[in-house]
Amino acid sequence: MGRFFERASLRLLLRPWSAPLRAGSGGPTWPRERTLVAVKPDGVQRRLVGDVIQRFERRGFRLVGMKMLQVPESVLAEHYQDLQGKPFYPALIRYMSSGPVVAMVWEGHNVVRTSRAMIGDTDSSEAAPGTIRGDFSTHVSRNVVHASDSVEGAQREIQLWFQSSELLSWADVDHHSAAPV
Ligand code: UDP
Ligand code: MG
Repeated sequence: MGRFFERASLRLLLRPWSAPLRAGSGGPTWPRERTLVAVKPDGVQRRLVGDVIQRFERRGFRLVGMKMLQVPESVLAEHYQDLQGKPFYPALIRYMSSGPVVAMVWEGHNVVRTSRAMIGDTDSSEAAPGTIRGDFSTHVSRNVVHASDSVEGAQREIQLWFQSSELLSWADVDHHSAAPV
């Protein structure tokens, strides 16, 4: 019995992306949690974009949107609205608008919580080795990467940074590109 469940869950884990579990089919639905990840200006300048993408791909998350942009100050003000009273806020806005940013939306099971673990502590000196900040950053004011810190925050940030037309629905892609069986 235990073996059966072990095999069944292994099959579920190994199920190819081209065969997503569909809502309404009676089985569980494929997780649709999404988060905003952004390589900040220092990360882009230091050519760390590829490394960040590779970590998320290797972990098993799916990229659903990506763009390089100079973030308008109005967007940054809304993005960091909770930090407006903080002493570091003006420097933060200057830093975030000092160069292009690479913004991405990643999708997958518990992607918000997992991506926070992958980027590491806000304060680089507290960030564990192996995390993005723990591997590439020495100071909180140049900490390479952003990731949303809650599911609700992620939804708000994704809507702020992306048009819905810029985000891909993998279920549709899978449906059209799947090999006949
Ligand atoms: N920040 C800073 N000094 C601080 C705290 C934060 O410069 O003492 C910057 C840093 O770039 C951080 C961003 O403000 O990533 C947003 O702060 P938050 O507390 O939301 O951290 P995060 O969610 O990015 O880990
Ligand atoms: Mg934050």
